[in-house]
Amino acid sequence: MSTVRVRFAPSPTGYLHVGGLRTALYNYLFARKHRGSFILRIEDTDRNRYVEGAVENLVRTLHWAGLAFDEGPGAGGDRGPYVQSERLTLYRDHAEQLVREGKAYYAFDSQEELEAMKAEQEQRHLTPKYDRRALRLTPDEIQRRLAGGDAHVIRLKVPDDTTVAVEDIIRGRVEFASEMIDDQVLLKSDGYPTYHLANVVDDHLMGVTHVIRGEEWLSSTPKHVILYQCFGWDLPVFAHLPLLLNPDRSKLSKRQGDVAVEDYMQKGYLPEALLNFIAFLGWNPGDDREIFTLDQLVEEFSLERVGKSGAIFSMEKLNSVNKQYLRTASEARLADLIRPRLQAHGLAVPDDQYLSGVIGLMKERATTLEEFVTGCTYLYTDPLAYDEDARKKNWKPESAGYLRAVSPPLDALTHFGASDIEECVRSVAEQNGVGTGKVIHPLRLAVSGTAKGPGLFEMMALLGKSTCLRRIDRAVTTLG
Ligand code: GLU
Repeated sequence: MSTVRVRFAPSPTGYLHVGGLRTALYNYLFARKHRGSFILRIEDTDRNRYVEGAVENLVRTLHWAGLAFDEGPGAGGDRGPYVQSERLTLYRDHAEQLVREGKAYYAFDSQEELEAMKAEQEQRHLTPKYDRRALRLTPDEIQRRLAGGDAHVIRLKVPDDTTVAVEDIIRGRVEFASEMIDDQVLLKSDGYPTYHLANVVDDHLMGVTHVIRGEEWLSSTPKHVILYQCFGWDLPVFAHLPLLLNPDRSKLSKRQGDVAVEDYMQKGYLPEALLNFIAFLGWNPGDDREIFTLDQLVEEFSLERVGKSGAIFSMEKLNSVNKQYLRTASEARLADLIRPRLQAHGLAVPDDQYLSGVIGLMKERATTLEEFVTGCTYLYTDPLAYDEDARKKNWKPESAGYLRAVSPPLDALTHFGASDIEECVRSVAEQNGVGTGKVIHPLRLAVSGTAKGPGLFEMMALLGKSTCLRRIDRAVTTLG
């Protein structure tokens, strides 16, 4: 097999979709596994969808995920430029070549004419399709109209009465009747190529050996196969990845949750956890192992192990994977990742030792990095309010009395460690002839403002004596 060359070819629409990240990941894994090249190509030929800054954002997100590309914008490579809007002449030349060879043709129809054609076909219950009226134009007429600068497109002349077969590693052989394929526009009236033309010309010129992309592109592939045949080029190997689904098996959509990788970055999923999770959306190692580093994925990945059926995007699964990665992440790394999040929330960044204490308390509990901040703001600042449910449940008329009783012995502790605090709380409960819960629950509410969180005594030890006493005092006054 020639050297593997694969590409990730996103359109810069503003953000990287998790489905796009999966496509990028599978291409990356395949390239690394076969010691080939991974190319990033920007498909920006749809000017209506152009979004300022989208390319930079894509590159930044891929970088965050650790998917380094060998060729592409900013990475060099000798088959560039890697941005389609910088390759317009190439597409025009190729489209005109097909016109000269009688495999494509000029068409001058206006939008209104095309709409009328479609409406009429629909009325007659026909599949809407270009009726090839432009093929009736004489060569002279065509020349005259071109010379007169009339708006025109170039359409592919799809061969009649044939079957177009797509051989796909994942889906096997998929056949399409050419009657069902419209005479696809290759070059638009604005001089830009359509996705189909640009994609095929670039895949060929960039030496792409394997086209690995989402299943939503499968219906375009017969058009691509025809184009390869028209140009007389070898076909790449195709692999169409299964759709991503919501847990209810509907197509993954914004309505049911986040679809932008940036949202997951922001929420505090670790890149390696997100990649590990994404790797399993369609692929599996064939046994029950679940945690894989990127290098291990490279080792194990194969397109043959990618399934056909839709892959369910389960937040529960992602959370569980992220949790596992957070547990094993080093404290120094977590601290580096948490500090900017504290700043973003306007919270003062505590010293290293204190932050290390927070990490120790939260590491087993947090699902995301963000939870090291928003899941325990009381570890950084006094609670300003008390959780209403927790207050109802844990603050009784006698609670203030117990807290008043526990304050002096806490204050008297010379060493404010978790076990010292615990002993103190237990003896106050005993002296009052009540179970420890009667003291512990309101104490937790006073100290943290909520009913949930890390172990109370460990948490109090971290907060320190004066903070705890201040919070107890405030609770007694405000809650009464
Ligand atoms: N530009 C297409 C996209 O946005 C690329 C599809 C392909 O890989 O051919 O996904």
